[in-house]
Amino acid sequence: MARPRLVAGNWKMHGSRASNLALLDALLKGIGDAATVECVVCPPFPYLPQVGERLRGTRVALGAQNVSEHAQGAHTGEVSAAMLLEMGCRYAIVGHSERRQLYGEGDERVAAKFAAVTAAGMTPILCVGETLEEREAGRTEAVVARQLGAVDFKEGVLAYEPVWAIGTGRNATPEQAQAVHAFLRKRIDSQVQILYGGSVKPQNAAALFAMPDVDGGLIGGASLVAADFIAILQAAGSKKVTT
Ligand code: PEP
Repeated sequence: MARPRLVAGNWKMHGSRASNLALLDALLKGIGDAATVECVVCPPFPYLPQVGERLRGTRVALGAQNVSEHAQGAHTGEVSAAMLLEMGCRYAIVGHSERRQLYGEGDERVAAKFAAVTAAGMTPILCVGETLEEREAGRTEAVVARQLGAVDFKEGVLAYEPVWAIGTGRNATPEQAQAVHAFLRKRIDSQVQILYGGSVKPQNAAALFAMPDVDGGLIGGASLVAADFIAILQAAGSKKVTT
């Protein structure tokens, strides 16, 4: 059975009420009704209501960039999965390398976040990926296997995001991406969508999405430019994925 293609935009800590609306207006106008690719945008927490309202009735889903592993309580500054669900989120990113590296989130915490998202009835997007040092030491497979293995992955989306490719302008080659996706594919249900993330741009998207185990993308910088994000969605839509 074909796996539907999925493209998710991670806005990171960017946006304002005005720029969000301009971006969404251009995005919704550009993709129209016809595109078949699943599309998600993940704005910063404070903008979830605004973005959710604008996306209501459209085919673009709302996602969050992070979530607490706790259900409620004395966790200052945290946001629970139930709150995200109430704000209209269908997806939540967990284990992004910026969370792992800058905020000390280890495998155990990522696994708890993943479980919290699933328990709330949303779809987690689990990010895995190696640093440049790990790749050069030949440890890519061991690292992503450890990160995936830490999670009780029954349902969700997996995103392979080599850390050295995120925000650097240096993407993995389609062959490098495919090799890791194929490795991950053996470890999960064949219907799980595996996204590639790391400097995806209109110029390289089609070649990456043409790989048999690349089911779409997790897009950072290019998701903030409507024309680029639309071009990436179109590149994902032009490929028929079969298993
Ligand atoms: C990301 O933040 O998940 C990402 C892939 O960023 P970029 O596309 O900017 O490399």
